[in-house]
Amino acid sequence: MPDCVFCKIVAGAIPSQRVYEDDQVLAIRDINPQAPVHVLLLPKRHIASVLEITERHDVLLRRIVLAAGAIAQQEGIAERGFRLLTNTGPDGGQAVAHLHFHLLGGRKMEWPPG
Ligand code: 5GP
Ligand code: ZN
Repeated sequence: MPDCVFCKIVAGAIPSQRVYEDDQVLAIRDINPQAPVHVLLLPKRHIASVLEITERHDVLLRRIVLAAGAIAQQEGIAERGFRLLTNTGPDGGQAVAHLHFHLLGGRKMEWPPG
């Protein structure tokens, strides 16, 4: 197993609160939530960042976006709105080098982000 916290979560070696999963995608609650709803959506297979996405990942990306919408509905944040984002690299604030999308909602988000 790669020395990657999210690969370990996918494998079940580190516990997490799973909110959605299919054969390609896992969604978990963030351990340090920045909003009342803070879910991370990630590919089960290790991809470092959005920079590694190719056309071969079209099904994966569709699944992530559809799951994000479904989770937003399920969590009751769809109507008022939410934010779906991926941090990339040091300037983007990416701490975990396994692609993940943050789904944040349940409070008013600031713009521009910090
Ligand atoms: P990044 O800064 O890379 O965009 O986001 C990484 C996110 O992963 C952070 O919001 C952080 O709280 C979350 N995180 C880091 N380690 C763990 C963990 O072991 N479990 C869970 N559920 N979230 C984690
Ligand atoms: Zn990984």
